Amino acid sequence: MASLALAPVAPASPPRLADDDAHPPADLPQGKAALVAALDEVVDELGDLQQALYADARHAVLVVLQGRDASGKDGAVRRVFRGCSPLGLHVAAFGAPTAAERAHDFLWRVHREVPPLRYLGIFNRSHYEDVLVVRVRGLGSEATWRPRFEQINAFEATLAAAGVRVLKFFLHVSRAEQRKRLLERLDEPGKRWKFDPGDLDDRDAWDAYTEAYQEAMTRCSTPEAPWYVVPADDKKARDLLIAHTLVRELRALDLRVPEATFDVEAARAG
Ligand code: ATP
Repeated sequence: MASLALAPVAPASPPRLADDDAHPPADLPQGKAALVAALDEVVDELGDLQQALYADARHAVLVVLQGRDASGKDGAVRRVFRGCSPLGLHVAAFGAPTAAERAHDFLWRVHREVPPLRYLGIFNRSHYEDVLVVRVRGLGSEATWRPRFEQINAFEATLAAAGVRVLKFFLHVSRAEQRKRLLERLDEPGKRWKFDPGDLDDRDAWDAYTEAYQEAMTRCSTPEAPWYVVPADDKKARDLLIAHTLVRELRALDLRVPEATFDVEAARAG
C-alpha cells in the first residue's frame, strides 16, 4: 500500500484546525475490513522496526501525543503500539504537576522520562501543556509561558543531538465528535470513570485552545522535532496515520542490526 504518512506542520504557517480537518483523508483504504487489514500490517511493521531500534542502539524515539479530552490519546497508545515489545517501550503520562514538580522548572519532570537510546518512548500529554493549559487557564502569566517556545525548541534540539528523534502528534477531533465521546462516557457506566466535569470547561475554551495549539505547533515544529496534525474523528484512520508516520520515520533512521562479533559457524557446531 502507498504510504499514508503525514506531512509535518510547516514552521511558519499555522495548521488548519477547523472541524472539517478532523475527518479522515479520502485516500485511506475504504471500509472497515480494509482499514483493519492495513492497520494490522503497519502495526506489525512498527513492531519489527522497534526491535531494530533496540538492536541498533544508536537512537531513541520519543512520540509525544497531545490532544483535547477524548481525542483518543489513550486509545492510540493501546492500539498503535500493540505490535511493540513492552520491554523496549517507555511510557509516561503528565497530569497537573505536583507541588514538588512545580518547585522545579517545567522541563524537569519531562526530561526524567525521556527514553534512553534503544527505547521507544511515548508521552501522553507532555511539556506542551505548559504552553497550552497554562496559557488558556491563566495558570501562569504570558511572561512565563511565552519564552517557553524557545526553551522547548532548545530542549528538543538537545535531545536530537543526543540521538533522540522527537515526533509530536496533535490528535485533532471536531467539536461534534468530542461531544459524542464525552456523552458516551456519561451514558455508559463502564466509561464514567473517564469523565471529568472539568473537561466541559476545556470544551467551553475550545477556540482559546485552538489558538494555543496553533501557535505551539507553528513555533515548535522543527526539522529535528516535527509536529503532525492527525485527523482523529475516525479512530482506525487516526491509528493508521500515526503508525504510517512512525514507520516512515523509523525507516529513515536506517537502523542496522549489528553483525555477529563471534564465529557463527563455530557457535552452531558447538
Ligand atoms: P487525560 O489526559 O485523558 O485527561 P487523565 O484524566 O487520566 O487523562 P489527569 O491525571 O487528570 O489525566 O491529567 C490530565 C490533566 O492534567 C489535563 O487536564 C491537563 O491539562 C492537566 N495538566 C497536564 N500538565 C499540566 C501542567 N503542566 N499544568 C497544569 N495542568 C496540567
